[in-house]
Amino acid sequence: MYSLGQQGRAVGEVIGELTEKRANDVRWADGRTFGMVYDGGPSVHAVAEQAARLYLHENALNTQAFPSLAEIQREVVGWTASLLCGDDNVAGFLTSGGTESILCAVLAARERAAVERSVTEPEIVLAESAHAAFHKAAHNFGLVVRKAPVRADFTADVDAMAQMVNANTAIVVGSAPQYPHGVQDDIQAIAAIAASVDANCHVDACMGGFVLPFVERLGRDVAPWDFRVAGVTTISADIHKLGYAPKGVSAILHRTKQSRQYQTFVFGDWLGGFYASPNMQGTRSGLPMACAWAVMQHLGVDGYVELTRQTLINADRMRVGIAEIDGIRVLGDSRFHLIAMGAEPRNGSDEQPVDMFALGDALLERGWYHDRQTPPDNLHSTVSNTNTGVIDDYLIDLAACVASVRGEHADDRTTTYATLE
Ligand SMILES: *Cc1c(COP(=O)(O)O)cnc(C)c1O
Repeated sequence: MYSLGQQGRAVGEVIGELTEKRANDVRWADGRTFGMVYDGGPSVHAVAEQAARLYLHENALNTQAFPSLAEIQREVVGWTASLLCGDDNVAGFLTSGGTESILCAVLAARERAAVERSVTEPEIVLAESAHAAFHKAAHNFGLVVRKAPVRADFTADVDAMAQMVNANTAIVVGSAPQYPHGVQDDIQAIAAIAASVDANCHVDACMGGFVLPFVERLGRDVAPWDFRVAGVTTISADIHKLGYAPKGVSAILHRTKQSRQYQTFVFGDWLGGFYASPNMQGTRSGLPMACAWAVMQHLGVDGYVELTRQTLINADRMRVGIAEIDGIRVLGDSRFHLIAMGAEPRNGSDEQPVDMFALGDALLERGWYHDRQTPPDNLHSTVSNTNTGVIDDYLIDLAACVASVRGEHADDRTTTYATLE
């Protein structure tokens, strides 16, 4: 039983205890966490912290009361749309994160299918690599899921997806790149499949939205995935990942205002007055929106290109290092900032493959934090500028840990990417 103390406590005491509570959290500032926190460096922290102080108390529920937040949303959405090669018709909203952007995209697709095509039993077509948030959306909004396998390279099997669309299909999903292995689906094929039944095509660029545009500027090949691909209807891009803004902000973009209108809930029959809500939230903090605005303004395109250059150096170095260690390998042909590391098959040898979860435990003992995934058992890294300067140390520890866990088996086989309490 918890009970709030009768008497309040002094500011210093409260903050002191909060500070102590953090002692067992991952120490992301050391660069040894692959994912969850994205560190753009000291000046990015400074601009975000100062913006946060300005907008700590503001409420984006009603942008008539806070016109600055309407402007901030318009500008951040507009900049994101231009990075994703949208034209002036592209319209969007800010949300609290990738999951909420995906919920909005699925809901809007369902509404459009109902209104424009009289679909009453809507379906979503996706690959098994598509983020779990799409299953959450289908569950919450009553869509039937048609789930296609991935190919040997972990990209969506688009031939299987083509067999799954029909007159009830409301939305077809592709990822650029997908989260588990960091590979990019064939978005052109997926958009064409969606268009063949007049369904929405959503590109999940939650991870790639603030990476791929800059990878392209660095002169590397990126297969088409953004609004330049005909048939792409909506795109989600998380500013709180490689956009380097603090948590709580993502963009959902629609190719047209008309498409966007399907995600807005309006209700005029309430004693509280006319109510309109663009996403899943009611009361909405202005803080993450202002932080996104400030971080994007501070970095500019050049800043993002530089952070992306460093991210690719880190990720490429990791891929090469992993390939050099006997017993482990990179799964799929990931070229960007996500890496899934699995056991190397032991052809013709009776030696047991490396237990990837035992390896994860051994790495954690040395302070390196990865998410665990399956099948097949693997360790996931979201590489970013956060990890600059530590990759050589990591690879030394990785080689040592692979050697030390040979023949070991971890009892804990869980792969929790979740908050269960
Ligand atoms: C992170 C992520 C999501 C979900 O975003 P949250 O911000 O965690 O809600 C969806 N898709 C992909 C590809 C992601 O990487």
